[in-house]
Amino acid sequence: MEIQQEAQKDSGAAGGLKKKVYTVKVNPSWCKSCRICAAFCPKEVLSISEDGTPVVSNPEACTGCMLCELRCPDFAIEVIREEKEEKGEEEGGDGRVG
Ligand code: SF4
Ligand code: SF4
Repeated sequence: MEIQQEAQKDSGAAGGLKKKVYTVKVNPSWCKSCRICAAFCPKEVLSISEDGTPVVSNPEACTGCMLCELRCPDFAIEVIREEKEEKGEEEGGDGRVG
């Protein structure tokens, strides 16, 4: 079984846009709950669950730095980067009256 959660990050550029989406996957079958990934994550994306496995608890903060994946001694965590077209969202109404 895999735990999969998505982290979404804007590309930062104004106007039209590709959104970088990071998907962090943990494979509990391989994870030995050493917590290295959570310790190295500079953005505190990962927290530790009661059974000791990492949980992607703050996915919005993920920068895709890959440290968690690179530091995991058991190849149990994977960061997948995708670029998705940003759909223009119109903000309706400016709140002004009269
Ligand atoms: S570094 Fe790897 S083995 Fe250690 S807790 Fe994180 S996912 Fe599990
Ligand atoms: S890729 Fe970097 S920011 Fe994202 S969860 Fe892993 S260590 Fe944290």
